[in-house]
Amino acid sequence: AQIKQVDFVKSSSRPRDCPKDGLPEFAILGRSNVGKSSLINALVRKKEVALTSKKPGKTQLINHFLINKSWYIVDLPGYGFANAPEAARMDWSSFTKGYFLNRETLVAVLLLVDASIPPQKIDLDCANWLGRNNIPLTYVFTKCDKKKSGKGKRPDENIKDFQEFIKKSYREPPPWIMTSSFTGLGRDELLLHMSQLRNY
Ligand code: GDP
Repeated sequence: AQIKQVDFVKSSSRPRDCPKDGLPEFAILGRSNVGKSSLINALVRKKEVALTSKKPGKTQLINHFLINKSWYIVDLPGYGFANAPEAARMDWSSFTKGYFLNRETLVAVLLLVDASIPPQKIDLDCANWLGRNNIPLTYVFTKCDKKKSGKGKRPDENIKDFQEFIKKSYREPPPWIMTSSFTGLGRDELLLHMSQLRNY
C-alpha cells in the first residue's frame, strides 16, 4: 500500500476538465489550517512536492496527483478561510459541489477534521452535506498527538462529539481514522484503507 511514485498531472479549474482516464481517486478536503499539507506530505514522504493550493481568493483549482501510476490523490481547495470574503466561500460551494456530484471515478472523500479543537460548524455542515448526498466519506482526524489544553477536551473526546453531531445524516457511520503527521499515527492505516477501497 506504500506510495512509491507521485506525479503531478494537472490543475483543473472546472470539474469537467479533470483527467478522463478512469483511474480511481480520493479527494482530500478540509478547513484551512486543518493540517492537510502536513498529512499529504507525511503520506507521500516527499517534502518537496508542493501538493496543496492554500491561498484564499485565488483561482480555485482541483489538483490531480497520480500515485504509483494507478490512482489519484486529488487536492481540493480548502474551505472556511477566516478572512475570506463571503463571495469566495460561496464560490467554493458551487465549484466543489459540482465535482462531488459528477465525478464518477471518486472512490471516497477524505474529510480532514482537526481533533484538537471542538467540532466546528463549517466541518459539520460539510460532513452533513456529503452524507445527505450519499458521497462516500472517510473521516481523517488530524493532530491527534495534541494534548488537551486548559478547559479544552482531548482529541478522542472531540472526535466523539463530532460523530454525535453528524450521525443523523448517515445511515451507516462512515469509517474514521485518527492521524498525526507529527508522530506518523494512522499513516499506514490510511494507506491500507485506501488500497482496500480501491479494490472493491
Ligand atoms: P493546511 O493549511 O491544512 O495545509 O495545514 P498545515 O499542514 O499547513 O498545518 C497547519 C498547522 O497545523 C501548522 O502549524 C502545522 O504545524 C500544524 N499541524 C499540522 N499537522 C499537525 C499534527 O499532526 N499535529 C500537530 N500537533 N500539529 C499539526
